[in-house]
Amino acid sequence: MIGTSWSPRLNIRWRLTAWNAVVMTAVLTVFSLVLLFAVRRHLTERADQTLQEELRELIEEINFYPDTSNLGAQLERRYSVHAHYHFRVVDQHGNPLFRSRFLTNVELPFDTDPATLRGAVFQDVELPELGTHRLLTMAMRDSRSNPLLLQVLAPRMALDSEFRSYVWMILTAGPIALCSAVLAGYFLAGRSLAPIEDIAATAERISAKNLSERVLVSDPNDELGRLAILLNEAFDRLQTSINDVRQFTADAAHELRSPLAIMRTEAEVALRSARSDEEYRRVIQVTLEEATRLGELSDQLLTLSRHDSGALGPFDDIVAMDALLTDVLEKFHLLAQEKGVTFESSTLPAWYVQGDDIWLSRLFFNLLDNGLKYTEAGGTVRLLASISRETDGRQTATFVVEDTGPGIAAEHLPSLFKRFYRADESRNRRLGGTGLGLAICQSIVNAHKGTIRVESEVGVGSRFIVTLPGSTEDRP
Ligand code: ADP
Repeated sequence: MIGTSWSPRLNIRWRLTAWNAVVMTAVLTVFSLVLLFAVRRHLTERADQTLQEELRELIEEINFYPDTSNLGAQLERRYSVHAHYHFRVVDQHGNPLFRSRFLTNVELPFDTDPATLRGAVFQDVELPELGTHRLLTMAMRDSRSNPLLLQVLAPRMALDSEFRSYVWMILTAGPIALCSAVLAGYFLAGRSLAPIEDIAATAERISAKNLSERVLVSDPNDELGRLAILLNEAFDRLQTSINDVRQFTADAAHELRSPLAIMRTEAEVALRSARSDEEYRRVIQVTLEEATRLGELSDQLLTLSRHDSGALGPFDDIVAMDALLTDVLEKFHLLAQEKGVTFESSTLPAWYVQGDDIWLSRLFFNLLDNGLKYTEAGGTVRLLASISRETDGRQTATFVVEDTGPGIAAEHLPSLFKRFYRADESRNRRLGGTGLGLAICQSIVNAHKGTIRVESEVGVGSRFIVTLPGSTEDRP
């Protein structure tokens, strides 16, 4: 059991952790790449700015000496040697007017005509054995309006090494951040899945012997809280139905025991000594009555268990209720006459129900039979049928079986349709009732999507009111 409750939880936990790791890796990688790209751009811009400043100084210097014939010698003094920056000035024919000593043997790649060049042009140049350098090229006109090409060059080494230090920083901090995020994810996944373990443990403890235990609902508003509430509701329903089954089994056993006990006692007493023929006949008569009662009880139990397992419905047939009730009433009329009870019925409207004619006959026969059973001679049993229109426009047929019998006390009415419920135990047993008739009526009505209810007043009589959905026309 431990294995089955633990392994799925660990699986989900590890799966969440793995997903977290994948997502975090992707996010951190994208973030680092964007960051490094921005840093590199910023460093290059900073280096380009200083190149531009150096070039501006050079332009000022050139403007300061209007005599361009001597420009090379004048620049030689200030710009010949510089720790970081190297300069070159070229005239419009490509002849160098000045170059820093560093550039004596170095050819800079540039073949643009200074007369057409606009603005500043930055580029990276790879100098053999000297590494990558950043080159800025601009054009200007000297005092005689001759175009000059100015170039300033600086090594990228400092910039590259600063960039590399950022790369190393990210390469070191990134995995640490990733590991921390994955560990935090693992821990958080564990914490959020912990209530599921509680739910599983409680569900495991709940068994037929321990049905009252429920899952603890920590927060009814979160997903796990809602799951716990739904499970508790399912456990409630399970508990109710198991209790109903237990009650039903106990009641059924009790019901079966009494006729069996009567038959056994009668037989034992009869066998104890020799009896007269008349006495034997009486014992056989009692045994027959009890056997009949047992047969009826087992038929009803079987009916209910079939209904419970869904044997009733859905229905394909269309049943004409007026024809069906006419048949039932024909049989019932004779029984009422025999008992000296008046029987009345209203006109039966045309009403078609999608259902089962045998079970619908049984429903009305049971109700009429009860009315007759509990009404003394001289009383009346009535069947009234009418069709009414609901507020939503649909039509419903209402059938009322009423009698002038003893009535049923108000406290019994809510439980009357329960299995084995009897309002008046002694009278009922005397009349041979099993307490299952109304439960069967209710299951028939439910299967036909109708309703059944009872109204009664002690000393006045009872009314059983059945509604059945259907149509006034002979089609579904
Ligand atoms: P039974 O087969 O014992 O009559 P039912 O389920 O048909 O069982 O009825 C349950 C109980 O309801 C009966 O025991 C009886 O007390 C009461 N009851 C049913 N119908 C009537 C009625 N028409 N008048 C008075 N009591 C009734």
